[in-house]
Amino acid sequence: MGLTVHTKVEGLPAAQEQALRSLAAIIHAALEHLAQEQEIPDVEVTVVVAGDFASEVRAIVRQQGDGSDAQFSTERIGGVVVGKCIALNDDFSKQLVVIDGTGWIDVDPAAQAQSIASLAHELAHVVLDRARHASGALDGVPANPYNGVDMAREIAKTAAAEFRADLVANAVLRVLAGTSDSDGVTRPLTIYDLCADGHCDELRRTLDAVVHPGWPDTVQRYREHHMTLPQLWEEIASSTGGVFNLLAHGEAHAHAGSASRPLETLRAHRGVELYLGPAWQALEDAITTEAGILPALSATCAYEQHIAEQGGRAILDMWARLGLTVEVDRRDGRFALWVGEPQR
Ligand SMILES: [Zn+2]
Repeated sequence: MGLTVHTKVEGLPAAQEQALRSLAAIIHAALEHLAQEQEIPDVEVTVVVAGDFASEVRAIVRQQGDGSDAQFSTERIGGVVVGKCIALNDDFSKQLVVIDGTGWIDVDPAAQAQSIASLAHELAHVVLDRARHASGALDGVPANPYNGVDMAREIAKTAAAEFRADLVANAVLRVLAGTSDSDGVTRPLTIYDLCADGHCDELRRTLDAVVHPGWPDTVQRYREHHMTLPQLWEEIASSTGGVFNLLAHGEAHAHAGSASRPLETLRAHRGVELYLGPAWQALEDAITTEAGILPALSATCAYEQHIAEQGGRAILDMWARLGLTVEVDRRDGRFALWVGEPQR
């Protein structure tokens, strides 16, 4: 994998810029090694470290992308985005990574550790996406899914990729950074050290604000004619995707730090018990197989399909508990969404 680094951070001291460039090269080399071991083909990567992350991403997708991300915003359910990976060609052999570089203006070890983790996370996406394309896992898969079955599969695969990219980033961070516990014993730094139970706290807030009673209330609003069916579908599909990505980060971070899992801590919440718990568990079981989270290229297609099938099925079952039954006509792909009373 070739690497080019551009820094666009105003006020970045020369020594900091040099440190950042060396780190990017080391992280890149670690990921390149992993990719080669798994026989994943080469990628040319350009890393842009930006002072104004959101406008940089918007400027790049305006030039390069298909326009789908032109309204890019850093806000997501339960957090903000600090890194973005953009494909520059169809087979993903050229990719661009943009990361927020403001943590490098001052010498701040915590901000720099965060920066290492987010760069490793984005470069992990680069490798995962390249493997996914080269393996044939995306053949015949719609780029912008709409029908319920395709959407459930896409949500499962996207959340799985976040979980996997976090764990790859963790493996890199552990090698590059260390920390001391309160008793003075040093050990490798993990992604869990960076925000501890922050994801769990976010998930708790999201459960209350979005999932329960939010999801069944939304379904009920449609049943009482306060919204249209496309509005209901748009809201449930995008909200499910956002919540699953948040869950993926929370579960991966807990995994990395051998800490208690957010879904375990929050298991008594009705939104976990009824909706998220069973769906996430089925997805995580599909992700954490014996082949590991970054299988060899030859095993990638079957692995991705297993995640899409098992995870997608679990999300369809979850929607069914919300009163939403998805029906797709196999012949022409026509999509019906049947709405009944949600379980609460
Ligand atoms: Zn990610």
